[in-house]
Amino acid sequence: MNAKDIQTIEQAITMILGAIGEDPSREGLIETPKRIAKMYQEIFAGINADPKKHIKLFHEENHQEMVIVRAIPFYSMCEHHMLPFFGTADIAYIPTKKITGISKMARIIDTFAKRLQLQERLTSQVANFIMDNFDPQGVMVVVRAEHLCMSMRGVEKPGTSIVTSAVRGVFDSDSKTRNEALSLFKI
Ligand SMILES: [Zn+2]
Repeated sequence: MNAKDIQTIEQAITMILGAIGEDPSREGLIETPKRIAKMYQEIFAGINADPKKHIKLFHEENHQEMVIVRAIPFYSMCEHHMLPFFGTADIAYIPTKKITGISKMARIIDTFAKRLQLQERLTSQVANFIMDNFDPQGVMVVVRAEHLCMSMRGVEKPGTSIVTSAVRGVFDSDSKTRNEALSLFKI
């Protein structure tokens, strides 16, 4: 975001505050447009960002066993309501030659999460990214999240989580491998 984008957000928030019946000039709200514009820079930092920048792949000929990274926390914004949805992601993959550091998995999810998103799309984008860049035998991603657009608006009970999954490669073709990952996700 450039200076003009930030100014546009500030103006828009001021207008929204007026339109919902608030007084944008009252003390508690006077800095709110600035705060939101600054926050948007952070929580939408993944828009136009390339997750490839964050990963370094290592060649590891001898490791062809399943790698599991569990309960990686993430925060995202639903594109229908611009309200947060947040939760955890579990990832399993079976490398062929390339592996990456565990912390890099969190960076990959973060880059896709810091956008206006749908949980289903977030899940498949992470799976596709790992498939395309790690060239593994397969990958499985399970995302559990609570959506504030549901919890706050009473459609669903608060605390209800939505679970989405994406399976690729050997996790798709072999139910034994898939079940092994699922049981390891639960430990
Ligand atoms: Zn929503």
